[in-house]
Amino acid sequence: MKIKEILQLEGNEQKINLKGWVRTRRGSKHVSFIALNDGSTINSIQVVAEAINCEEELVKQITTGSCISVNGKLVSSKGSGQAVEILAKTIEILGSADEYPLQPKKHSLEFLRGKAHLRFRTNTFSAVFRLRHTLTFAVHKFFNDKGFFNLHTPIITGTDAEGAGEIFQITNLDLENLPKNEEGKIDFSADFFGSKTNLTVSGQLEAELGALALGQVYTFGPTFRAENSNTSRHLSEFWMIEPEVAFADLNENIDLAEEFLKYCIQYCIEHNAEDLRFLDARMEEEESKLKKEERSEMSLLERLQFVIENNFVRLTYREAIDVLRNSKPNKKKKFQYPINGFGDDLKSEHERYLVENKYKKPVIITDYPKGIKAFYMRMNEDGETVRAMDILFPTIGEIVGGSQREERLDKLQERMEEMDVCQKELWWYLETRKFGTCTHSGFGLGFERLIMFVTGMKNIRDVIPFPRTPQNAEF
Ligand code: ATP
Ligand code: MN
Repeated sequence: MKIKEILQLEGNEQKINLKGWVRTRRGSKHVSFIALNDGSTINSIQVVAEAINCEEELVKQITTGSCISVNGKLVSSKGSGQAVEILAKTIEILGSADEYPLQPKKHSLEFLRGKAHLRFRTNTFSAVFRLRHTLTFAVHKFFNDKGFFNLHTPIITGTDAEGAGEIFQITNLDLENLPKNEEGKIDFSADFFGSKTNLTVSGQLEAELGALALGQVYTFGPTFRAENSNTSRHLSEFWMIEPEVAFADLNENIDLAEEFLKYCIQYCIEHNAEDLRFLDARMEEEESKLKKEERSEMSLLERLQFVIENNFVRLTYREAIDVLRNSKPNKKKKFQYPINGFGDDLKSEHERYLVENKYKKPVIITDYPKGIKAFYMRMNEDGETVRAMDILFPTIGEIVGGSQREERLDKLQERMEEMDVCQKELWWYLETRKFGTCTHSGFGLGFERLIMFVTGMKNIRDVIPFPRTPQNAEF
């Protein structure tokens, strides 16, 4: 039986078998108390092993990290701290754990990153990964309930949708002995796919093709970016959710994103209350070590509730620039990148100012200058800005990036020319604008950034089981 189910029962001496990993064992010669966890819940169950039932030699091997199977009966607990406990009749050691590297004490997250194969067994990481599952489920449920179709877009592709050039090339050419063409350049026609290919940076372009037939689709898959930014918010391999909706304009796109984010957070509150309470307490403890001015005003649970209950602030890029230009930190030259005016890119310090100081709410910025956004975003009447939107979250920064797509063939081609995007390679994308084009919009949500927000974890490496970052692909 799983501990999650057992803990919901009353102790009526019913016979139970349970298996799990030992968190701690303490006690005396006559009786041992084992905290056992099987991952089904944040809560461990207390197993009482009395010397009359369990041999001393065996009990000695029940150390932190070992795996055991217990036959016993469920009784109401005499001790405080738990309602029920297991009185063991027999215990079998399935796997001992000599020199187990995790002590029954608090380890730093950095230390545990080096032990990613074992960190699932800590309370913090088990809570994080149960929540990651719940969020995955919430994503599919949200879109399924709305009549969206999940589309699996390719992981291997010939395109760089973002045009940022941060791609991982893939090849099966012999790198020691590359085939060359007449010009002396590498001959990719001899490569596996007969052309240059890379890992996808976004499923959007393909999702658009789906939306222009199925109406509303979403992707949920791995995404790869070779950006050499060693930040706490960037991974080289991350998961992205990309809905794409025919007939939706930018405002409908924003409404969808706001509803979606609130739904996912609410779903976690309803389904993982205990994990969230644990992480809430964890965050409070972490924050108590900080200086007063560095502590957040809200606890984790308060912050989640706050996001669900409040409308996100919506403003245009031009408005945001005005606010930032006239802000205290800008005037006092506190920003690393000063804001001078239209065209300036918003860096994370500016995003944080808007969200955490100025509005104290999630902020949605729309209508960015065309120069700092991708080629596929719909041009506004002004010829200078595009129908883009970014959603900025407290502590996270950008969590969603989206836009209304340029559905007019001539305008799209114009932009591709200006931005040096190869039209020949994207002939199939352009054909959707030739054959039955229509208004459509979509966005990309970085899944790990949402998990960071929900769990309160501050480093993106701690919300994905095995993070891939520059110089690190272990495990
Ligand atoms: P950023 O400015 O934070 O690098 P971006 O503008 O490159 O983000 P988009 O191309 O709009 O991001 O991607 C959509 C979403 O994917 C982002 O809003 C973010 O949540 C997430 N994202 C982007 N890059 C990464 C990354 N390297 N690791 C994890 N999530 C990412
Ligand atoms: Mn980026």
